[in-house]
Amino acid sequence: MAKLSVKELNVREKRVLVRVDFNVPMEEKDGQMVINDDTRIKETLPTLNWLIQQGAKLILAAHLGRPKGKREPSMSLAPVAVNLEKLLGRKVAFVDDCIGEKVEKAAAALKSGDVLLLENVRYYNEEEANDPVFAEKLAKVADIYVNDAFGAAHRAHASTEGVARVVAKRGGQCAAGLLMERELKFLGDELDQPAHPFVVILGGAKVSDKISVIDRLLEKADTILIGGAMAYTFRLAQGYKVGKSLVEADKTEVAKAALEKAKARKVQFLLPVDDVVAVPVKTDKLDKKGKAIIEWQNPRVNTDLNVPDDAAGLDIGPATVKQYNEVVMKARTILWNGPMGLFEDKRFASGTLGVARAVAEVTRKNGAKSIIGGGDSVKAINKAGLGNQVTFMSTGGGASLEFLEGKVLPGVAALSNK
Ligand code: AMP
Repeated sequence: MAKLSVKELNVREKRVLVRVDFNVPMEEKDGQMVINDDTRIKETLPTLNWLIQQGAKLILAAHLGRPKGKREPSMSLAPVAVNLEKLLGRKVAFVDDCIGEKVEKAAAALKSGDVLLLENVRYYNEEEANDPVFAEKLAKVADIYVNDAFGAAHRAHASTEGVARVVAKRGGQCAAGLLMERELKFLGDELDQPAHPFVVILGGAKVSDKISVIDRLLEKADTILIGGAMAYTFRLAQGYKVGKSLVEADKTEVAKAALEKAKARKVQFLLPVDDVVAVPVKTDKLDKKGKAIIEWQNPRVNTDLNVPDDAAGLDIGPATVKQYNEVVMKARTILWNGPMGLFEDKRFASGTLGVARAVAEVTRKNGAKSIIGGGDSVKAINKAGLGNQVTFMSTGGGASLEFLEGKVLPGVAALSNK
């Protein structure tokens, strides 16, 4: 059922509680938290500017990190208020709480077009518990609720779900923001009835994360191209050796079932025909999580479907890139989720970059629709400088996967129907 849009609301002089995704990466510098990348803040500007132009009083709610119910100063949204002020070119008031008297007072002082940012909703455990009393408290300052935080919509939390229920029960409207609307349009409507050939490219670390997506897309796609570590679970299922590749040995049955389903439905299901392999050597250096950093030695193209015993497969090889690109160039709709290899290391990024270039080219030259399903594939496309050459890049990692699986997102379900 189509959801009410922020564009259909009459918000003049009304207090609009907007749930936004301001979960930006931050880093401490000289004792202060600074924002490393404000893409997520920028993505909300169309909705915020629209509401300001329409004369609403804006109250913004968001989470940052995982403070687990504590007032963790490094996860305060205060630096976001400063950043947002610059981006909007107008004052953004900040209150160091998200419920209670202080918030009510600040909200009461708002005039038409004013913006107020509330403190991290996850400073309260009740947020993630979707506590109804907490949701009531959040809703106290809202005449209308707008959700623009697609990236958090797969969670039934108080600020994404509970508060919408409270506002709706009082007869208030709950609408999708412009970013949320775009996500639902591209990941939902456009893929529901895709123009054919519909090519799905899936990569990343684990089959288990994406098997439900594969299963669902096998109903719609003409071709599925597999890359990343995930390919090795399929290879193992086919009886090949995978050496030291990242693999889920307990998921070979799941992989086999997907291969069978593809055959039965006559979906072309392609696995890499070559790869780039390297030998892992443990170093004394530790990563951020305290795990020994692996150095990859002797990277080389491997044309045998078996990976040598002492090596791991880390990227799709040149013959696979060529084959995948030929398929991509014939597509009219493309969905891509997950890198083709360990693309963070440039020795293993050629596969991901090669596919990214083909996706951009078929979009530019043939007008194909290309939808990038969030997370690392978006990072890879941006790294290649091709972000403006694809049709749509999702802002939600987990949320976009769950949506593609066909799951109902609680944050979407709670919004008013048109
Ligand atoms: P996902 O979150 O499942 O999309 O996985 C993304 C991660 O998988 C990225 O950090 C990639 O570096 C990693 N990855 C992809 N292919 C491989 C591979 N062949 N071996 C190890 N890691 C990989």
